[in-house]
Amino acid sequence: MRITRYAAAFAALGVVLAGCSSEAGDTVEDAADAPVEVEENVDFEAGTTMAELAEAGTMTVGTKFDQPGFGLRTPAGTPEGFDVEVAKIIAAELGIAPEDITWTETVSANREAFIEEGRVDMVVATYTINDDRKQRIDFAGPYYEAGQDIMVAEGNPLGIQGPEDLAGKNVCSVEGSTPAEEIRTNYPEAQLTLFDVYSKCADALANGQVDAVTTDNVILTGLVAGSPDQFDLVGNPFTEEPYGIGIPKGDDEFRAFINDTLEQAYESGAWAEAWDSTAGAISGTEAPEPPAVDRY
Ligand code: GLU
Repeated sequence: MRITRYAAAFAALGVVLAGCSSEAGDTVEDAADAPVEVEENVDFEAGTTMAELAEAGTMTVGTKFDQPGFGLRTPAGTPEGFDVEVAKIIAAELGIAPEDITWTETVSANREAFIEEGRVDMVVATYTINDDRKQRIDFAGPYYEAGQDIMVAEGNPLGIQGPEDLAGKNVCSVEGSTPAEEIRTNYPEAQLTLFDVYSKCADALANGQVDAVTTDNVILTGLVAGSPDQFDLVGNPFTEEPYGIGIPKGDDEFRAFINDTLEQAYESGAWAEAWDSTAGAISGTEAPEPPAVDRY
């Protein structure tokens, strides 16, 4: 299984490297970030979102800009991370090259609104699938399963082992996120501080303004990896956070297309390669078994 996966990933990388040699400006680094071949002869039924996007040759993707390993804006202005790679895989299947994607920062609280208002074509942003959100938008996927965890100051001076230990402590999370909702609902004795993005929570923990930060384990892993002398991960996940790709409500064809594309990427090794080159590289973990997509 591993051999097949790597063989597929290297074959895909080879294709991209070959493509780069004919395009000035592309670097090998770009190729490593984009181990997918951009479809050249796309043909979608007229009137579908796929046909519209393929015709436009460009699409707008909402993602995070401050989450190392999933969506982090580089000095060059483009983001990198697992979510970014998943978005590139979907765009490639529409015939859209990575450099033709417009990236828009979507923070936790504005994702549904950005999709509803058509400001983005899809959101790939550590976005938990749930019924509340499904009232406003639809989700393809899941393409990853995270779990809520806690980040504390290095050495865990307060001995926080799980969410019960947050009673009477100052814990930071983000407005409009499922982890904030989980604390508010099930751990009301915790003092919740909310910002719009997780990097501000990390700053607050570093400054001693809060005792802990809570969100998905993989987001916290990226923050700990960036400041191992300052932060520790408790490592005791207590919720399930299946990550989906947010799209406009009722666009069933687009949802089925993205689900098909995810399954293909699981098969070809492109999904695992995306993991290995981003979140996997930061956390030192191998790609897990991908979750089954939910064609609800
Ligand atoms: N996955 C959770 C959510 O969608 C937390 C991460 C985030 O805020 O993006 O609310």
